[in-house]
Amino acid sequence: MLRYHAINKSYDGAKALDRIDLDCPAARTTVLIGPSGCGKSTLLRLAAGLIRPDAGEVRFEGAALGPDNLRAARLRMGYVIQEGGLFPHLTVRANVTLVARELGWPRARCEARLLELATLARLPVGLLGRYPLEISGGQRQRAALMRALMLDPDLLLLDEPLGSLDPMIRVELQEELKTIFERLGKTVVLVTHDLGEAVFFGHRLVLLRAGRVLQQGSAADLLERPADPFVSAFVRAQRGPQWRLEPGAGTI
Ligand code: ADP
Ligand code: MG
Repeated sequence: MLRYHAINKSYDGAKALDRIDLDCPAARTTVLIGPSGCGKSTLLRLAAGLIRPDAGEVRFEGAALGPDNLRAARLRMGYVIQEGGLFPHLTVRANVTLVARELGWPRARCEARLLELATLARLPVGLLGRYPLEISGGQRQRAALMRALMLDPDLLLLDEPLGSLDPMIRVELQEELKTIFERLGKTVVLVTHDLGEAVFFGHRLVLLRAGRVLQQGSAADLLERPADPFVSAFVRAQRGPQWRLEPGAGTI
């Protein structure tokens, strides 16, 4: 479905991606994980055609993305950028239906799809007329997901879609998102820096460091068969200090 082939990308001489080969199979969730600055968002921007590789190619459904096919390919992708990226001056309704209206969808079709997505993403219909700043962080993420799903894309690119949410809302949305991905059978590439979230979502996990893939495989592969000392260090750091309550602890 989506394949990165021998990708290099530098910014001002600094390598952001260094010979990346990566396959994101259809109807599966591939989770990109790794420390800040390792190149996760750059990989999604390449897939969405916002930036071009210095070398190598991104293939979507077997065809290398380029000027000729980018727009058509882009319409088959839903993309949620880091921080959601809703336009603050547009209502939720206008944000979600923006591209469909540009494509000339009739009003009734836009509205029907909007209501279908509100049900799917469990966003109360009464909020559709509000502006992004007038709804909660969790509701904004639901709206951003609705916008990404509007054209029923084959591929979803989600850049830390739950990054800024408080833990309880985050867990609730994680479960709902996973159900949505499975129900719709979507191909998903999801970025997170949270190992617990990666394990929860990922059929396949791809751990990056400094623009290179250190290890890819199942959660069990990364946790039990780390391919590199950095993988173990990353896992250990994310597990954090273990809570241990001694008998009598907490009593006054
Ligand atoms: P991540 O999403 O994993 O935190 P990014 O893909 O955003 O990392 O960035 C990878 C590297 O490329 C970082 O070192 C970052 O500073 C650099 N980078 C990303 N975008 C730009 C840009 N537009 N200009 C210069 N450097 C950039
Ligand atoms: Mg990022």
